[in-house]
Amino acid sequence: MARRASRECQETRVKTFPQRSLIIPFTLGTITKHVPDETTLIPDSKFEIQSEFQRLIFMPPELDRATANALLGYFQDRRQSVLILTRAIAEIESPSGDLNGSRGIVERLAEEAKQVKCVTGIERVPAANDYGEHLRITAFSDGASVGDETILMIGHTDTVYPLGTLMKRPWREEQGRVYAPGVFDMKANCALAIEVLRACSALSLKPRRPVVLLLTCDEETGSFSGRALVEGEARRAASVLVLEPPATGGRAKTGRKGTAGYQITAHGRAAHAGLEPEKGASAILEIARQIERLHAMNDASCGTTVNVGVVCGGTRSNVVAAEAQAEVDVRFTTMAEAERIEREILNLLSFDERVRVSIEGEVNRPPLERTERVIALYEQARRVAGKLGFELGETSVGGASDANFAAAVGAAVLDGLGIDGDGAHADHEHIVVEDIARRGALLAGLIVTL
Ligand SMILES: [Zn+2]
Repeated sequence: MARRASRECQETRVKTFPQRSLIIPFTLGTITKHVPDETTLIPDSKFEIQSEFQRLIFMPPELDRATANALLGYFQDRRQSVLILTRAIAEIESPSGDLNGSRGIVERLAEEAKQVKCVTGIERVPAANDYGEHLRITAFSDGASVGDETILMIGHTDTVYPLGTLMKRPWREEQGRVYAPGVFDMKANCALAIEVLRACSALSLKPRRPVVLLLTCDEETGSFSGRALVEGEARRAASVLVLEPPATGGRAKTGRKGTAGYQITAHGRAAHAGLEPEKGASAILEIARQIERLHAMNDASCGTTVNVGVVCGGTRSNVVAAEAQAEVDVRFTTMAEAERIEREILNLLSFDERVRVSIEGEVNRPPLERTERVIALYEQARRVAGKLGFELGETSVGGASDANFAAAVGAAVLDGLGIDGDGAHADHEHIVVEDIARRGALLAGLIVTL
């Protein structure tokens, strides 16, 4: 993947709502309804007080049981609404690069977000070359939060499915599962994220920081234009919650490998394979030998994988091949390892000195490393899940997402927070309906305790 820096962010179309009064003045009755006895209701001096009349009541770092139950009840009641919105956007096909599909979804989600009380800004950000539209929704940005840092939720509205897939595999609900192209990765999560904001408003839960929901339109094709937005938002975020699908068993993703791609070309010398083969220098033989060398770089002990996935070369069987190529995919868990492997690949020497070897390529996505900050964020999510009555596991995976870009700028990132299901990028893609309530409650519980 080449670096295609985007400038479209400068042409942001901004649509901001007039500021509403976002701080709901609590009555003591309302507070005690959601906050248990041990919670201190006296405003802490470290929190700003907006006015004499409006005190900010922030959630404590631990989710109390009453709020946990209120959240679970809320999302159980709203499950059907989440599915209705999910269906509306799942039935707008949006393969990466499809402008109309992207706009259709953004329009529908923006319309929905407008009705949510705590939402303070909705921006539609056109991607370069009419590739689509990114959507940035801001909530609780009333200037009365702790510091300037935000809580960032990131997701994407594009899918890997070409137009027409929906006709072959229309929306289908069966045995507690919903099947549709892109529903698991990740249209249901886009719908759920807006419901999470609505839940905070409805239950009068005020996060301690402004919340930003960023939905990009080109994640599935490498985030050429969304990357800058993701990095920019991640830099000002205290925590980044990534709405990608969870791993099996609903586990969160605390590590993702980084990726790099290289193209190795051997330039040999053509000759007649029967008459004077000695005058030729086979590029194919050279590539074959290099492949052995590349595969020897695999190192399971540190999770490094090197795979030659494509080879091509030669013209006819009776010609010594003048040119051949190999495409290499490299995955790694640390940048140090990425640099080490890159050095080895860039310094490959030819076996046959008559053959010249040229190499192109680079790191596409840095790894999401399982740092202290990532672990701390995961631990918080695990505690919130515990209050909601379920165990949240964690794992590291080989695939990359926008979480990689967010982590690379130093943000605390937790990925795989989407609704449970299976079949991302496959024919049996689905979500588990029962998981909607607890995932929604988990996200909301996290937002109000971070
Ligand atoms: Zn995805």
